[in-house]
Amino acid sequence: MAPHFFNTLSGRIEEFQPLHDQEVRMYACGPTVYDFGHIGNFRTFVFVDLLRRYLKQHYKLHHVMNITDVDDKIIRNSAAAGVSINEYTKKYQQAFLEDADALNIERPEIVRATEHIEEMARFIQKLVDKGFAYRVEDGSYYFRIAKFPEYGKLSKKDFAGMEDGARVDVDEYEKDNARDFALWKAPKPGEHYWETVIGPGRPGWHIECSVMSMNALGETLDIHTGGEDLVFPHHENEIAQSEAATGKPFVRFWIHARFLLVEGEKMSKSLGNFYTLRDLVLMGHKPSSIRYLLSSVPYRKQLNFTFDGLTQAANAVERLRNFKRRLEMEQREAGSNEAIANLADETRAKMDAALADDMNTAQALAAMFDMVRDANNAADRSELKQGDVDPLMKTLAAFDSVFAVMTDDDAQKVKKIVEWAEAEGKAEKISPQAREIAAAAGTSDAQIDALVHEMQEARKAKNFARGDQIRAELNGMGIIVEVTKDGARWRRK
Ligand code: AMP
Ligand code: ZN
Repeated sequence: MAPHFFNTLSGRIEEFQPLHDQEVRMYACGPTVYDFGHIGNFRTFVFVDLLRRYLKQHYKLHHVMNITDVDDKIIRNSAAAGVSINEYTKKYQQAFLEDADALNIERPEIVRATEHIEEMARFIQKLVDKGFAYRVEDGSYYFRIAKFPEYGKLSKKDFAGMEDGARVDVDEYEKDNARDFALWKAPKPGEHYWETVIGPGRPGWHIECSVMSMNALGETLDIHTGGEDLVFPHHENEIAQSEAATGKPFVRFWIHARFLLVEGEKMSKSLGNFYTLRDLVLMGHKPSSIRYLLSSVPYRKQLNFTFDGLTQAANAVERLRNFKRRLEMEQREAGSNEAIANLADETRAKMDAALADDMNTAQALAAMFDMVRDANNAADRSELKQGDVDPLMKTLAAFDSVFAVMTDDDAQKVKKIVEWAEAEGKAEKISPQAREIAAAAGTSDAQIDALVHEMQEARKAKNFARGDQIRAELNGMGIIVEVTKDGARWRRK
């Protein structure tokens, strides 16, 4: 079934087909690297990753993301720190990529603004030649909005009566106030600049994305995505620049993720109500719980961040992992149960239909948990046969190729962040829970299985002291053992 997505441009849900035979060309606005990303930012990036992984199941995908490594804040902060722009942003680029890895966000092709300055200057020259841009006394360039009557078509703002020639030269706009926007900024005294065909200066934020996306993907993209705050002015301006230059539609589907909120307000740096991924991990939360929480609410609904929600997410992930472990570990009769094979197939179809329905992740998760419940019940009644394991595992794998929470590697990821905090002199931020989770890093499942087996053998031989000793040892390694009538099960903390 062809997927349907909500297109901000048309304001409705539309059937999606790529323009070029089965190859989707998608551009995502990436981070501005002047600080660590907060989990609001990562709500958008996790959504883009879910969309990426879903699309990959059905199409060939060319997915490009930019890193904005030059803007007003970066220029200001690097100058204040007395280092070059590259040196200043390197640390935050690295941190962004590490955080994305911890959240199992697959890496798209990455383009960096500072590596495409000359193309941006040439593009601006083209806009000048066509009458869409003009140069002012100080050497800056502006886009002439009055020449582009469709301005406002994405954000649905009415710019009639707009003042011709009024300009803004900052990246942050007053909402609802259309102004000729800066394409290129002449350097202020002492500021870093590039020497180009249109003179010295640096690009504005909007021109970066127009130039880099079309360079990599062609003049018309299938999908362009970002958070909801980018609709205006960033994406509105991208459309104006790109369509003015090419005369062709720039993007077919604009897909925007709604905000992550904290107590009803947007999580943001300026409000100071934000958590970074590292903050949460050091408090003792697993990256998989955070990814799950961010994925669990469909992208067009705002998501209110709470610690309760994070705990529920951790439980949900644990339930899925326990189910998989049960399938792997328990011994079962030979044969198969047709009802289970059907259950596995139907669940897969339901998940796919839910994601095709404008990425309804909540419904896909509901289908998954229905399967886990029914299969667990069947296993409790000994109605699950050896031949049923394979179809259930395949459905789990299909689920995880999009949701990416099943692999039990949180311990290694937490350990890395704990080590980073120690190296940065932030040891006081490391909670005992984070240390406990990190303690399980480096122990293989086979090692743990062997210790659990040894513990059970000691108990059978009534050597309870040795049994308790092994259990304590496992506990110290970050492993919890649950002994049930069917034997011992373990999990990482
Ligand atoms: P920035 O690094 O500020 O350019 O933001 C990177 C991405 O995060 C953009 O796509 C923003 O739209 C998005 N974003 C910023 N704040 C939030 C939030 N509270 N919830 C969801 N996405 C956000
Ligand atoms: Zn952008």
